[in-house]
Amino acid sequence: MIYLDNNATTRASAKVIAEVTKYLDICYSNASASSAAYTGADVPRREAARLMQEVLKAEEPEAFYFTSGATESNNWIFSSVASTEATGEIYISSIEHPSVRDSADRLQKIGFDLIQLPVHPNGVICLDSLARKLSSKTRLVSVMAANNETGVIQPIEEVGRLIRSKCPSAIFHTDATQAIGRISIDLEDHWSSVDLLSFSAHKFHGPKGIGGVYCRPGLKLQPLLAGGGQEEGLRSGTTNTPGLAGLAAAASEIDVDAYRQVGEKRNYFERRLVEMLPAVIHSFDAPRLVNTSCFSIPGISGDDLALSLAELGIIVGTGSACSSGSLTPPNTLLAMGVDYRLAAGTLRVSLSEATTFQELEVLLEAIVMQTQKS
Ligand code: PLP
Repeated sequence: MIYLDNNATTRASAKVIAEVTKYLDICYSNASASSAAYTGADVPRREAARLMQEVLKAEEPEAFYFTSGATESNNWIFSSVASTEATGEIYISSIEHPSVRDSADRLQKIGFDLIQLPVHPNGVICLDSLARKLSSKTRLVSVMAANNETGVIQPIEEVGRLIRSKCPSAIFHTDATQAIGRISIDLEDHWSSVDLLSFSAHKFHGPKGIGGVYCRPGLKLQPLLAGGGQEEGLRSGTTNTPGLAGLAAAASEIDVDAYRQVGEKRNYFERRLVEMLPAVIHSFDAPRLVNTSCFSIPGISGDDLALSLAELGIIVGTGSACSSGSLTPPNTLLAMGVDYRLAAGTLRVSLSEATTFQELEVLLEAIVMQTQKS
């Protein structure tokens, strides 16, 4: 298989698999049991928090809470705001993942004003619009760090600066699911305005079903799940030690500097693609994750092309992985003003560190062959 859908999920590394296996097979005790200090079952959570602190340059490991992934983290953040505030304005960008969009919709239904921030045609959020709209009634602003479909990196530092100058008490959340391991993040420096951040291990070679929330020290999240009191009483449920061990292993292998070489391969792919076909590369001139290429070939259905590539053993994405199966165009492209038919034909090729030039050549040949057939 040639796997080029790394924004949907990534392959677990050998170290991740070994660590997950260890905590399923050998150290399988309950992390909340009084024996945990002897069995080592309390190690994965501690290591996961320590390593996430290192990766994100956060103040302390205590700033991290673990969940089943970014969907849960995003839902938690919005429901936490709803249980502490009665009303106010909630801002999200118009290109957020459905787990943010639908969580924000819920708040709107119970009385919050929901404002969706537009993006420029290249997919970057309109800062002017945000600057004009923020007010003393703003409670929460949620802007994703990098988009899952186009890979566009949002100006988190500038958004944070605007929030702190216009509505200092508002909470700033960023869904960093696609950004971790791919761009450098520093919560004590250029991202120091971020209050809450969500993440998911399976986007950086960890296991599926484990992720978390960074919560700036001093800020309080409201309890999400009642029960055994895990996660400081905020998110009960037996600690997922294999998942946390896998997350910690994946975090320990993050190397953002080395990741930059992926960009040479993505750029090579795009250069060759436009030489061979009249492809339109979305967000080409925007700051993008170096692994992501989102494009349309006029007159070609992205879904049909993706399916015929899958038959050949080449896996690419069409729009958001989480809404695959649906034939509606990616919301992000519609928000950017891309023509409906062109947006509906979108393909997303997302590389990993392991992607080779040879694999990209095979993909390019297959795309040309399949488009000639249709
Ligand atoms: N946020 C973004 C930007 C994503 O790309 C995804 C998954 O595709 C999610 C949230 C959901 O993550 P999870 O699979 O951990 O629920």
